[in-house]
Amino acid sequence: MQRYFVAPDQFEGSRVVLTGDDARHALRVMRMEPGDRFIASDGASREAVAAVTAADNGRVEAEIIFELPMDGEPKWPVTVAQALPKGDKMELVIQKGTEIGAAAFAPFQSERMIVQYDDKKEAKRLERWSKIAKEAAEQAHRSRIPAVEPVRTWRELTASMAAYDLVLFCYEKEGGSGGTGLREALNAFRKERLAAGATERGLRVMLVVGPEGGFTPREAEEAEAAGAVIVGLGRRILRTETAAMAALACLMYESGEMGGD
Ligand code: SAM
Repeated sequence: MQRYFVAPDQFEGSRVVLTGDDARHALRVMRMEPGDRFIASDGASREAVAAVTAADNGRVEAEIIFELPMDGEPKWPVTVAQALPKGDKMELVIQKGTEIGAAAFAPFQSERMIVQYDDKKEAKRLERWSKIAKEAAEQAHRSRIPAVEPVRTWRELTASMAAYDLVLFCYEKEGGSGGTGLREALNAFRKERLAAGATERGLRVMLVVGPEGGFTPREAEEAEAAGAVIVGLGRRILRTETAAMAALACLMYESGEMGGD
C-alpha cells in the first residue's frame, strides 16, 4: 500500500489531507479515486490507513479507516556519520541506510576527503538528500523519515560524540587480525551496559565512516579521545559507501531486528 509522510497538521481529526507532490503522485501516478486506500504517517506519533473521499485542485481528502502501530523503527536509533564522499555516493548511503534502518545521517568533513566541500551548494544538496530519505522511508514502510543533518566539521563531529551511548569509529587499520572487530566491541559494550543495569531500548549509536582516502591516525586518536570505540569491519577494505551499510546491517542483526530478539 502506498505510503505518504505528511505534516502533523495534515491530520484533521478523523481525516487526512494530501497536498503538493504527494497529492500529484496519488492522482497522476497512482490514479487514486474515491475509496482507494493509502497509509499516511506524520513521522512522529501518528500513522493510519485512509480511504480517499475527494480529490481536486491538487488536494486529496481521505477518511481514516484505522490507526496503525508505529513499529517500523529499529530498537537502536543509529546515526550514520559519513565523511563526504565523491559524486553521488552520499545518495546511495542515504537510500540504502534508510532501508536498513538508520535513524539519522550526519555528513561531515574530514582530512582526506577527496570531494571539495562547497557550503554554497549545501542547501541544495541537503534538500536532495532529505527527499531521498523520505522516498526511501516510504518504500521501506518506515514510521519515521531519517533526519539528514547539516554537514559538520571534524571538530563539530567529535564534539557531538558525547551525546551518544556508543560511538563506533570504523577504522580500516583495525580490520586485520588482532584488531577489535565490530562484534567484540558490541559484546563488550553490552556486557558493561547490562552489568550497569541499563536497558538496550533506545540505545543511541553513532557509526563513523571515513572517506575514500580513509582516516588519518590523528583523526582516530581524536575520535578515541572523544569517546569513540575504534572497530574493524573485517580484513577486506570496503568502499566508503559500502562500509556504513555493512556495519549498519550488523547492528540491526545484533539488536534483534532480524529475529532472535
Ligand atoms: N584507507 C583505506 C585503504 O587503505 O584503501 C581506504 C578507506 S575505505 C575506502 C573508506 C572507509 O570505510 C574507511 O575510512 C573506514 O571508515 C571504512 N572501512 C573500510 N574498510 C574497513 C574495514 N575493514 N574495517 C573498518 N573500517 C573500514
